Amino acid sequence: MSSLDSSAGMSSASSGLNGRTIQFGFDNTYSRLPELFYARLNPTAVAAPQLVKVNVELARDLGLEPDALRSHEGVEILAGNRVAEGAEPIALAYAGHQFGYFVPQLGDGRAILLGEVLGHDGVRYDIQLKGSGPTPFSRGGDGRAALGPVLREYLVSEAMAALGVPTTRALAAVTTGEQVLRDTVLPGAVLTRVAASHLRVGTFQYFAARRDVKAVRLLADYAIARHYPAAAHAKQPYLALLEGIVARQAQLIAKWMLIGFIHGVMNTDNTSISGETIDYGPCAFMEAYDPAAVFSSIDHGGRYAYGNQPRAALWNLARLAEGLLPVLAQESTSEEAAVAAANQALATFEPRFEAARIAGLRRKLGLLTEREGDAALAEDLLQRMAQNRTDFTLTFRRMCDAAIGPDGDAGVRTLFSEPGAYEGWATGWRRRLDEEPTNGTVRAAAMRAVNPAIIPRNHSVEAAIAAATRQQGFQQFEDLLDAVSRPYEDRPGLEKYAMPARPEQCVLQTFCGT
Ligand code: AMP
Ligand code: MG
Repeated sequence: MSSLDSSAGMSSASSGLNGRTIQFGFDNTYSRLPELFYARLNPTAVAAPQLVKVNVELARDLGLEPDALRSHEGVEILAGNRVAEGAEPIALAYAGHQFGYFVPQLGDGRAILLGEVLGHDGVRYDIQLKGSGPTPFSRGGDGRAALGPVLREYLVSEAMAALGVPTTRALAAVTTGEQVLRDTVLPGAVLTRVAASHLRVGTFQYFAARRDVKAVRLLADYAIARHYPAAAHAKQPYLALLEGIVARQAQLIAKWMLIGFIHGVMNTDNTSISGETIDYGPCAFMEAYDPAAVFSSIDHGGRYAYGNQPRAALWNLARLAEGLLPVLAQESTSEEAAVAAANQALATFEPRFEAARIAGLRRKLGLLTEREGDAALAEDLLQRMAQNRTDFTLTFRRMCDAAIGPDGDAGVRTLFSEPGAYEGWATGWRRRLDEEPTNGTVRAAAMRAVNPAIIPRNHSVEAAIAAATRQQGFQQFEDLLDAVSRPYEDRPGLEKYAMPARPEQCVLQTFCGT
């Protein structure tokens, strides 16, 4: 197994600011891999960078000084106008299945990995600029990002982190002072993204499609060393790697389902090997509960609808298994044995996903013990919610009050177009709650810790983006970011963020805006 020792010498560029340079403490490993894994290039400078936001807490967790990032030099780095000391900028190569069709070369077309840093938690993180100019992987695109999608990714990824879902994070956003041409002319921006890594299923596919088994093996060794170190000691390390990725994806998708998150573009190039949510494009949180819910303007067939997400993840994992087959065969007795083992690993997805989902539903319903009928009880509620199109987030949040006693029922009942639909279910729920050892107050507190009050609702996100894009400032963005950063609290004054869109506010479609 390769280790992640990055000590191989590579001189770092000095920023030349008479000694006052920002220390990222870069410790790069991916740029030690062979050149075919990436292209080396610097970000393209922009006209007039201006800071929108630095994520102070995240910066500190990464050992970065927030004030330094906010300084002139810091903003220049975040905009791509200056290369930080120790950075070794690269655009990563990857392929991917997009809506079922294989594209042998995608890659970072508008993103550049500056380097890696070690967080206070001991984890190695990628620091990447997104929207930092064209790369050899741009395929005719401009390499840029518009302000709207940058703010959307900032808001939603930080909300996901606060909700306890594995995700890439937003370290900073800057505007470029340049315009980008999409359907209309829009202000340009750059997001600084932090990820456990940017390895994707599509990264494996890139080398597998080229039949470069040596590269697949190198990549697998790298993924093991960085994300699944225990797999190195398994009898079949590559099989253990596949099993580990399957397990993390099952956990991840269960978490999405439990908070009503719809990724929107679950292509294999947007499926991370580390098990984080990555690439926030036309994503959305569902309001009215509907397994068929789709928001993305480009998802015509509903391939990535809310209820299809587990299936889509498993399909992506099957593509990963295919890509890994050559190295799985190397550690197996035969190719047939490798195929059988890969299939077995894939077959663990569904039971893992279901177990995580049911455990999560139990917690959402305030059930701390396990009983046989729990799954049926939860499914019955979801069915009634679908028939009544009740708001997914608000229903479970209000049930926290109902869990104390029937006095709380009124708030939930009004969410159902046919109130009897809730009452008919709640009787059985209460009977089941009576079998629990906890009292109502303790139960309600436990439920409030898993059923968020505040999610980044589409209309709030769109309003914040619209204000910023129309040069009305970033106050709405800041307010919404603050609200979604503490999703499990009922804070006075923030009630509006907890409410579903009124009919005239409803966002029916989201756009990736690339
Ligand atoms: P996405 O849909 O954002 O996951 O991107 C899919 C592919 O398109 C990736 O290879 C991106 O790097 C590339 N891409 C998206 N937007 C742009 C852009 N504006 N310029 C160049 N490449 C892009
Ligand atoms: Mg992508």
